[in-house]
Amino acid sequence: KYSTASAIEEPVSPPVQVNYTELLINGQFVKAASGKTFPTLDPRTGDVIAHVAEGDSEDVNQAVAAARKAFDEGPWPKMPAYERQRILLRFADLIEKHNDELAALETWDNGKPFEQAAKIEVPMLARLMRYYAGWADKIHGLTVPADGPYHVQTLHEPIGVVGQIIPWNFPLLMYGWKVGPALACGNTIILKTAEQTPLSALLASNLLHEAGLPPGVLNVISGFGPTAGAALSSHMDVDKLAFTGSTSTGKIVLQMAAKSNLKPVTLELGGKSPFIICEDADVDKAVELAHFALFFNQGQCCCAGSRTFVHERVYDEFVEKSKALALKRAVGDPFKVGTQQGPQIDTEQFEKILGYIRSGVEDGATLEAGGGRLGNKGYYIKPTVFSNVKDDMLIAREEIFGPVQSILKYKDLDEVIHRANSTPYGLAAGVFTQDIDTANTLTRALRAGTVWVNCFDTFDAAIPFGGYKMSGHGREKGIYGLSNYLQVKAVVTPLKNPAW
Ligand code: NAD
Repeated sequence: KYSTASAIEEPVSPPVQVNYTELLINGQFVKAASGKTFPTLDPRTGDVIAHVAEGDSEDVNQAVAAARKAFDEGPWPKMPAYERQRILLRFADLIEKHNDELAALETWDNGKPFEQAAKIEVPMLARLMRYYAGWADKIHGLTVPADGPYHVQTLHEPIGVVGQIIPWNFPLLMYGWKVGPALACGNTIILKTAEQTPLSALLASNLLHEAGLPPGVLNVISGFGPTAGAALSSHMDVDKLAFTGSTSTGKIVLQMAAKSNLKPVTLELGGKSPFIICEDADVDKAVELAHFALFFNQGQCCCAGSRTFVHERVYDEFVEKSKALALKRAVGDPFKVGTQQGPQIDTEQFEKILGYIRSGVEDGATLEAGGGRLGNKGYYIKPTVFSNVKDDMLIAREEIFGPVQSILKYKDLDEVIHRANSTPYGLAAGVFTQDIDTANTLTRALRAGTVWVNCFDTFDAAIPFGGYKMSGHGREKGIYGLSNYLQVKAVVTPLKNPAW
């Protein structure tokens, strides 16, 4: 039924309707100022799901004006934090109530398995909102013991009008990572969704307004990067920018922020994360975890374990078993129960991934499984495994963002530390070992924002996430995520009677 060898069957009819396709500005769904729309496509077929309003600089201007008014005139930043908290908690309840509708829209627009969206991602979005709702009334400054007769305190204030740009691989989770902390801190927002996946954020934002969010606090612009995204990044009245996407676009938005009003920028960018399987590993478990680390979400994870380093003593067995697991992977319609892998997001990514597969073969890596498209419709790719991958091959250096596993061989710990760190990226790393000393050595030596030991892709609202090196600036989630959206104001008052 879920053959990885034959053509994909006719697509299942999605169990959801598209109700929101316009821009959300000042609490209202509105057409784009230009009247333009763009199609959002079903990755299973390439067919149009809906035509969505295409925001550009004029719409961004209107959204920024609405967010500015909502910030300056309130009530949002000035309302009791408890009230903000209650709105976020009501939003979490509504997310749960609409769990399957949100998940189905996510699957239709993105191609990810419905079971993954419905059982993991949408519940995580609700959990994240409750986590940040919990912070809303616990954000406060310090009393500082300065030298001299002064009463000194710090106020932790919202930054103001925040621009947020998100990618297509986890549309709802990226929405939550951005919107949750910014709202808890009392900011107002203009969020630009990815052009490939505009739908779920519009439904979620409608629920947030149903939960009581005042108009203008969250504005959502669907549209393209070089137009709407650039207008937001270079806007003179946006006080802060948060971006998730590719490293090359991260550089562009950072430049635009610097050239306009020097707004502070947080960046969550690409990765080429090593996953190190040590010689003492239980090979069966290691194979399963490394498979998950790479193939989860069609391989479209910024933190994918895309360089699987395996100790020479267990290498051959590991490769054989990884190949067998890839050949068994259930690729098919993401709406079907049991599907592990759906189509890639769009034709651009699909072609890019197939190009990397060709380069792996040309560079002399051994193709163990997969190696091409699946079926003749949509953007399905066979789970692909390469062994004998060398560090200088393109597939070991560049982010593929697809279902292509590269398995590399190593001899000793110092060597693998050096090779694992020899990348401009530093988003995540994985370590698989039963030896506590090996684990401690590797976790300290690896230059990455997250190191998973004997697990991978373990996410939680409280665990911070972000990159070293060219994987980004700053951390999202957890207590660390709050500081992106707060200003610290020092207030200094002379003491009239220092003796007391
Ligand atoms: P992308 O950088 O092209 O797009 C991401 C977002 O940026 C989209 O909303 C897009 O419209 C916008 N954008 C594009 N050009 C822009 C411009 N000139 N100005 C302003 N905004 C612009 O990335 P992509 O290829 O669509 O997404 C995949 C990439 O995102 C991968 O490289 C992946 O590693 C990265 N990613 C990183 C994380 C993380 O948390 N670090 C998470 C998800 C994805």
